[in-house]
Amino acid sequence: MKKRIVCIILALILSLSMVACGAERPQSSDKLQVVCTLFPYYDFVRQIGGDDVDVTLLVTAGREVHSFEPTPLDAIRLAEADVFICNGGESEAWVKDLLDAAGEHIGTVLVMMDHADVLAEEIQEGMQVREDDEEGEDEIEYDEHIWTSPVIAMELCRAIAQALIEADPAHADGYRARLGSYLAQLAALDTDFRQVVDGARRTTLVFGDRFPLLYFCRTYGLDYRAAFHGCAGDTEPSLATLKYLIDKVEAEQIPVVYTIELSSQKIAGAISDATGAGIATFYSCQTVSREDFNRGETYLSLMRRNVDALKEGLQ
Ligand SMILES: [Zn+2]
Repeated sequence: MKKRIVCIILALILSLSMVACGAERPQSSDKLQVVCTLFPYYDFVRQIGGDDVDVTLLVTAGREVHSFEPTPLDAIRLAEADVFICNGGESEAWVKDLLDAAGEHIGTVLVMMDHADVLAEEIQEGMQVREDDEEGEDEIEYDEHIWTSPVIAMELCRAIAQALIEADPAHADGYRARLGSYLAQLAALDTDFRQVVDGARRTTLVFGDRFPLLYFCRTYGLDYRAAFHGCAGDTEPSLATLKYLIDKVEAEQIPVVYTIELSSQKIAGAISDATGAGIATFYSCQTVSREDFNRGETYLSLMRRNVDALKEGLQ
């Protein structure tokens, strides 16, 4: 009911604004207008679209996608988009309301999870399980963080380029050329991760945090332990989980415990205090801090930090 009212209000504001500015797409610019929900897709469009697109990031820097609530302005942005790129999945349940509000104005909609082999969320030994997970046991929850694997990222970039070409065939050559050079950079990143893993003494990562890196670990054959699965979990672990992680780090003399971006680092800090292990940030890239965004950091530059962090943790 509440959702329906929000929807109606959004639709109303939207239609008013369309009248008010007499909006004809494209408006201020004749470039292809692209709107993305998440930072990695925003960055992929930036790299592949170059000067031929105007790209907007909906879940802005420093915001959490899992608690994001769209505003009427977001519905307007969406209605002005030629191409809308979202991830899909439970964390983006709000996208449906936005699409309903944007109604017939909406251009191409690209759902990235449709372009990857999605994996069910895993419960690892020692992990804290949320109460609602235990209740809805028969429902499979899919892990949504598909872009964390550079190999999957390459597939997603191909799908993005295809959508840009279809929406704006006049600039197809530019899109294809930039896709080619970006795929080469992703392939080089992939090679670097493989080299780190091949030369490593160990294969287990310990996250004193939520764990959005299932696809990354699968791609590189890495094992992991974490306080919570996925990324929408609680931030207070049980004592049993904390103890399990501390024991694991001690028993295997693991040099580094990982935390993710925008984390309080509380759990990693507690494990580090108890064991003397270092703390390193592993960037899921799901969102980006305001500081990193303003500095012009990219998926590749954040992933390069991960190459270094992985070296530290696997030595
Ligand atoms: Zn997440």
